[in-house]
Amino acid sequence: MAHRITLIPGDGIGPEVVEAARRVVDATGVSVEWDRQEMGAGAFARTGHPLPPPTLASIRETGVALKGPVETPVTSGMRSVNLAMRRELDLFACVRPCRLYPGVPSVYDAVDLLVVRENLEDLYTGIEFEMGTAETQELIAFLEEITDRRIREDAGISVKTISDLGSERIVRFAFELAEAQGRSKVTAGHKANIMKFTDGLFLEVARAIAADHPSIAFEERIIDALCMQLIQAPERFDVLVLPNFYGDLVADVCAGLIGGLGVAPGGHVGETAAVFEATHGTAPPLAGTNRANPVGVMLSAAMMLRHLGELEPRDRLEAAVAAVLVEGDHVTGDLRAAGDDRPPASTIEVADAVIQRL
Ligand code: NAD
Repeated sequence: MAHRITLIPGDGIGPEVVEAARRVVDATGVSVEWDRQEMGAGAFARTGHPLPPPTLASIRETGVALKGPVETPVTSGMRSVNLAMRRELDLFACVRPCRLYPGVPSVYDAVDLLVVRENLEDLYTGIEFEMGTAETQELIAFLEEITDRRIREDAGISVKTISDLGSERIVRFAFELAEAQGRSKVTAGHKANIMKFTDGLFLEVARAIAADHPSIAFEERIIDALCMQLIQAPERFDVLVLPNFYGDLVADVCAGLIGGLGVAPGGHVGETAAVFEATHGTAPPLAGTNRANPVGVMLSAAMMLRHLGELEPRDRLEAAVAAVLVEGDHVTGDLRAAGDDRPPASTIEVADAVIQRL
């Protein structure tokens, strides 16, 4: 029976790279019925909604989406259409595999990390107080009263929340993923020495869940030290589990270790739905040029096939992408090392080359 999958081309380079990935998925022979839906600035211009209800309804029904990057239109009144989608669908885990494929220019020899980021809490609650407003002054007065600490009147305030349940489900998810993928170690990143009741809670929960998984090693790192050690020796790490904000930063750092945004895949996973998309954004200067790298979305599609239980086609897709990368004749300009004067391939040519090698 065909898998029903929601397909969201998105904005900017989204339609080009998503189309390349869709062709590759179809060429694996997996039977897919794509349900094409809109989201982002283009959707807002056409329908008045950056996250149209039919798009959410489709993902709820199919349970799986392949998505391009989207832009949040300033006039939509929405802080972030991506955050809204993750909240609506309770996509609590962001998974970013960061593997360095042979042939991709990098200063490292071997990188194979799995970044697991909490997706709904932390500084991304969207609860903020603007400098100078009556509500902010009231909040400052209240905080001064209960803490006996001074807060400057010209301060803005953003609220950070980390919960017991939110920490438990992301850390448990990271350990279960580590087990399912035959990995050996989970490292939790935090700043519990400063933020005792948010990061401290996350760390306490992580330690407790680690004790339930004795076959997987557990270590903890203060986030600044973790960033330094990732740059120095990424091969020392395996699975990283992080609260939302640090996860956002560290996932892009790790994308930098493996050749940049053009090749970094990802997935947002919840109990009842999963949305797969590359790490990169809409790359406005590249939009419509047929020069964007589709590998990040193709590898996201490979993650989607694994999620759907299509393991053999997933392996073939990944091997075909890896073959194109190591040969190096059909890669986009962002993957050309200095001095390599072979002409860059177009987005469509990369897809053709991958399809030939499936
Ligand atoms: P970006 O990822 O779009 O671009 C950063 C840099 O990486 C640019 O130099 C770009 O040309 C390059 N790049 C990105 N993807 C590439 C690809 N596939 N091939 C080759 N080069 C690539 O980040 P940005 O410029 O900070 O953001 C642009 C827009 O995208 C913003 O509106 C932002 O909100 C949005 N965005 C959306 C998502 C998403 O929907 N998941 C994620 C990140 C950013």
